[in-house]
Amino acid sequence: MAEMLSFVYQSVPSRVIFGAGCLDKLPEEIQKLGASKALVLSTPEQRQSGLDMVARLGAHSAGLFDRAVMHVPIETAQAAREEAQRLGADCCVAVGGGSTTGLAKAIALVSTLPILAVPTTYAGSEMTPIWGITESGLKKTGRDPRVLPKTVLYDPSLTVSLPPALSATSGMNSIAHCVEALYAEEANPIISLMAEEGIRAFAQSLPVVVKEPGNLEARSQALYAAWLGGIALGTVGMALHHKLCHTLGGTYNLPHAETHTVVLPHAVAYNTPAAPEAMSRIARALGATSAAEGIYNLASSLGAPTSLAALGMKAGDLDRAAEIAVQNPYYNPRPITRDGIRALLENAFEGRRP
Ligand code: NAD
Repeated sequence: MAEMLSFVYQSVPSRVIFGAGCLDKLPEEIQKLGASKALVLSTPEQRQSGLDMVARLGAHSAGLFDRAVMHVPIETAQAAREEAQRLGADCCVAVGGGSTTGLAKAIALVSTLPILAVPTTYAGSEMTPIWGITESGLKKTGRDPRVLPKTVLYDPSLTVSLPPALSATSGMNSIAHCVEALYAEEANPIISLMAEEGIRAFAQSLPVVVKEPGNLEARSQALYAAWLGGIALGTVGMALHHKLCHTLGGTYNLPHAETHTVVLPHAVAYNTPAAPEAMSRIARALGATSAAEGIYNLASSLGAPTSLAALGMKAGDLDRAAEIAVQNPYYNPRPITRDGIRALLENAFEGRRP
């Protein structure tokens, strides 16, 4: 007998344009937002992409702010907010990954300027109403519908320059959104379909992306998968894996996407006994017999890091990390115990096969 269904589904209200070359629609999409003066945001590394947006916008560009950095320091957010005001911008165009989208969100949070996002990684922030700002070394996060980008242009041709190593870990980061959506507290049939499809599309495309970064079909599949991962992250709550990565990233300054890549198979192994239906869907999407092993094998085959030690964590930090991770209770399909988390972290530290 099938299970009785009971769920709540809240969709993410955003407009998505997808396809190689869709960036040509940038000027008309700005107009559709009712805007006419866009502040373009980028990281210093992606300044050239920022300048390209400025050129495409022509008279509808207010200028470029190219100082986006990881985790949105409050000082950067303030500087960008002031620049938007000084230039009289009436919307933001964020071209880049989660760091750049995050900066646009910091502006929208206090100004209601609409965001048009042009994602160039697989992080998925463009599909979520989640913002994060770092002040005095602490990252505050929250949900606010104002920060959800109104329009997203997914143009895979902008992702061919994403280096293979970053493509692999960024893709694993998005797979983590899909994985935890399948056993989320608010899990629902539509998001589960998207999540399973996201894992499948990544499992097929990432090995090609890493070998042939310029392969536009594979890039297109991976970006499609990232869109699905972003919707999953923005729609349902996450669990143990995201909590652990947040703790490790925040406390030990470990790199975001790499940490997700290393921890995911171990978080999945921990949750396996408590979420059999989710695990069989993950395994099926990966074409594997076990979800945890399938994820581990995919990450290793991509040449991605598999141990926290390789990311610079110290063995002496494991006890404290386990304590921090169990401090504030949060939803997880399997109850969280200090010893269980300590063992999980040690496995991830050593990079053991789950
Ligand atoms: P990132 O945005 O920090 O980008 C990493 C580096 O890659 C940067 O130097 C960037 O300029 C460069 N880069 C990006 N795309 C490129 C491309 N196509 N070609 C060449 N270089 C490129 O990395 P990320 O993993 O996308 O984002 C991580 C940040 O986003 C973290 O701070 C994380 O917390 C946040 N995030 C937030 C959400 C949310 O919903 N709020 C979701 C996911 C991630």
